[in-house]
Amino acid sequence: MTTHKKYSDYLPQNLPLAKRFFIFIDSSICSVRLRVKINQKVLRGQPLIFGDIFNVPVHAPTSGWIEDISIYSNSFNQNKKNIKIIILSDHLDKWIRLKPIKNYKRYTSEQLIKIIYQSGIVGLGGGQFSSSKKLMLSMNKVHTLIVNAVESEPYITADNCLINNYIHEILKGCKIISWIANIKIVLIAIQEDKIETISKIYSFIKNEPLFKVCILKKKYPGGSSKILIKSLTGQEIPHEKHAVDIGYLIFNVATIYAIKRSIIDGEPLTERIVTVLGDENFLSGNFWTRIGTPVKHFLTNYKNKIYLNIIVYFGGLFMGKRIYDLNLSILKNTNCVWIQLKKKENNKTIEYSCIRCGYCSFVCPVNLLPQQLYWYSKNTDHKKTKKYDILDCIECKACEKVCPSHIPLVKYFKIEKNIIKNIELNDIRKKISYLRFTKREKRLLNYKVITHENNIKSTNILKIQDNKTNDIKRNIRKAKVQAAIARMKSKK
Ligand code: SF4
Ligand code: SF4
Repeated sequence: MTTHKKYSDYLPQNLPLAKRFFIFIDSSICSVRLRVKINQKVLRGQPLIFGDIFNVPVHAPTSGWIEDISIYSNSFNQNKKNIKIIILSDHLDKWIRLKPIKNYKRYTSEQLIKIIYQSGIVGLGGGQFSSSKKLMLSMNKVHTLIVNAVESEPYITADNCLINNYIHEILKGCKIISWIANIKIVLIAIQEDKIETISKIYSFIKNEPLFKVCILKKKYPGGSSKILIKSLTGQEIPHEKHAVDIGYLIFNVATIYAIKRSIIDGEPLTERIVTVLGDENFLSGNFWTRIGTPVKHFLTNYKNKIYLNIIVYFGGLFMGKRIYDLNLSILKNTNCVWIQLKKKENNKTIEYSCIRCGYCSFVCPVNLLPQQLYWYSKNTDHKKTKKYDILDCIECKACEKVCPSHIPLVKYFKIEKNIIKNIELNDIRKKISYLRFTKREKRLLNYKVITHENNIKSTNILKIQDNKTNDIKRNIRKAKVQAAIARMKSKK
């Protein structure tokens, strides 16, 4: 592998626009409400779905037409259902009308959080957690903002490229977040090997007491929020709690940059920097890439058009996930596309039994017991894997790399985590269905009560009306009799 560190020093290149964009929207938890239909014309930044508590809005990455809308099974997790929207570009790349804000301090925190939500911003470092939700949860709870500029994976330089070239905007984003969450100190966490970036940051913050730079030792995996908090403060995030619960708000640099663009420039999230890693046959470097750009676009535009003989990963050397469908596209949290030529797989590693050497536990950065997790995952003992905190595993593969028995531990953990998450998802779905059912029952009951009351009212009205007509009839009869008597008397 050639060295890719140099790419982060240069401005990211603009990837030519693809002809078609593939937007995937997770609809596994609750149904997604679409805002577009097939053949509709869309502009860049136009929302494609209505947001809800589970999904932030997703926007068109360019102008064009909605070519197709269909259901797609997630290749990483077959149980997850995605909605796939295909946009055919018109090559004009026309924006919707943007609403930039000159002075964000004139807006309340709630108003700014709403803009961030409507701009579809999620954690771009990998988490994909809604940034607006994170900010809502942090209100009146946090005292420090941690800027995560630590890139765990050795060859990914997307964040470093962003800081090198857009530091001014990132600092502005930090100030916006500090204003929203009433933060008094901003810690910029960066690893010691980024010497040029560190000196650049210092030159920008020299007269700004809000900012402080924290230089961390180069260590894998340094960028996970649990490890970051521990390295910076010595504190551990308690199990099933988050950094905000102990007073720290953590945002990745790319997310902070996206927040700045949403507030100051009024731009919804439609692009991000992606590190593309390839050998000399493929394109390499950092690229401004639209969300929804299909992977095959990286291959067709450049040197080598024959891509049957390649392997593609989303992510880096340690945590990368292999993808098999080249129509899969850049998601909001995709920071790296890694393209490799297929090699002859003649030296397949054999998986042996666990010898309980304990090496895996020594290296686990979040203090788990991988051998126990492996044992219980293999035996599908979901209660035990949960008890041993499998959900805290950050899938860094450190345990797997040191295992003398060559056990693909993370493969077992991923399967087990998916099963547990699906069980939890089913519970959430059941709760939502039960809530809907009880609401419907209440509505029907109310409707019945109202119609019953209306019926009683209308019968009463009818009765009153009947009585009134009877009275009138009786009075008419009476008047007729009296008139007859009066006539008789007058004749006499
Ligand atoms: S390193 Fe491998 S063999 Fe050793 S205890 Fe862990 S899983 Fe078992
Ligand atoms: S992948 Fe292994 S080493 Fe990494 S967090 Fe999970 S159990 Fe620990």
